[in-house]
Amino acid sequence: SQDRVFNFAAGPATLPENVLLKAQSELYNWRGSGMSVMEMSHRGKEFLSIIQKAEADLRTLLNIPSEYAVLFLQGGATTQFAAIPLNVLKPEDPVDYLVTGSWGDKAFKEAQKFCKPKVIWSGKSEKYTRIPAFEGLEQSSDAKYLHICANETIHGVEFKDYPTPKNGILVADMSSNFCSKPVDVSKFGIIYAGAQKNVGPSGVTIVIIRKDLIGNAQEITPIMLDYKIHAENNSLYNTPPCYCIYMCGLVFEDLLEQGGLVEVEKKNEKKAKILYDAIDESNGFFRCPVEKSVRSLMNVPFTLEKPELEADFVKEAAKEKMIQLKGHRSVGGMRASIYNAMPLAGVENLVAFMKDFQARHA
Ligand code: PMP
Repeated sequence: SQDRVFNFAAGPATLPENVLLKAQSELYNWRGSGMSVMEMSHRGKEFLSIIQKAEADLRTLLNIPSEYAVLFLQGGATTQFAAIPLNVLKPEDPVDYLVTGSWGDKAFKEAQKFCKPKVIWSGKSEKYTRIPAFEGLEQSSDAKYLHICANETIHGVEFKDYPTPKNGILVADMSSNFCSKPVDVSKFGIIYAGAQKNVGPSGVTIVIIRKDLIGNAQEITPIMLDYKIHAENNSLYNTPPCYCIYMCGLVFEDLLEQGGLVEVEKKNEKKAKILYDAIDESNGFFRCPVEKSVRSLMNVPFTLEKPELEADFVKEAAKEKMIQLKGHRSVGGMRASIYNAMPLAGVENLVAFMKDFQARHA
């Protein structure tokens, strides 16, 4: 609508307008309950219906097999960097990390406190612009898992298919491409994602874990990080982030109404193509450093041939209601995050602005 901006933030990020309006209409009195979702007991029948529907819809969306548990947790994806090794490893266990950006690196560093992780490949020296061929990877033969970050939010590097662990399970941080396309969940032991990019507000983290991996947490594991506790209590061991879960539920309903993740992926591919084409066809005025085959459909980093114009670019775009285009402080340049909820019109407006900006500054 007229009074909304196109928000290209990396997360918290734009949410679907119809979801926001639905939440608004239900805010004061949720479906005749006489109260807002924020005021409900998490053990009451109203909220139970909300969390159960959210889980069921997510299972439908991602076609999650019944051997997998779905957990709605707190502490962000960052907490999972520790929770995963604590739950499935002993302190001496070796594991492999394939590091394709800053988030994978953070996950590795945190894991060092709880197990014996090894970086089997890092893109750091190439500024995280590619993903290696899987055949050449030197995986440790005794690694209990292989960890990847499916989409590096800062560097815009996205796995298009997945390596097979030599031994053990595949673990993926899907925070920034969760529910943006279909995924074969059965290839993974654990998938985890903060909600605040594609599926809701910040405050809830979703963990999808094969049930046989649950129940072996290290003794020092805090109760709040123990998957067994959360699985046995259907994510209601303590007070969950009720409103966030409700919002995710509305987003899942919306994604199903759009025709599910096959349709959602098509829209995401279309938006990303328009933007990458504009960058590639700018005769070097705009540049995207990421190798084409692994460019993210979600986060599009780009720089200007004349870096001195970058501040103007961001400022002028904001005047035209396109906000949060500044790149991450660690890499500079620009970044357009174009998650599920970014309308096609937002990307079209951005591309039109880029062309106009180039015409004025070339
Ligand atoms: N992993 C990825 C890929 C991310 O993009 C982020 C957040 N930007 C995180 C982990 C950390 O998530 P949180 O802030 O929810 O802890």
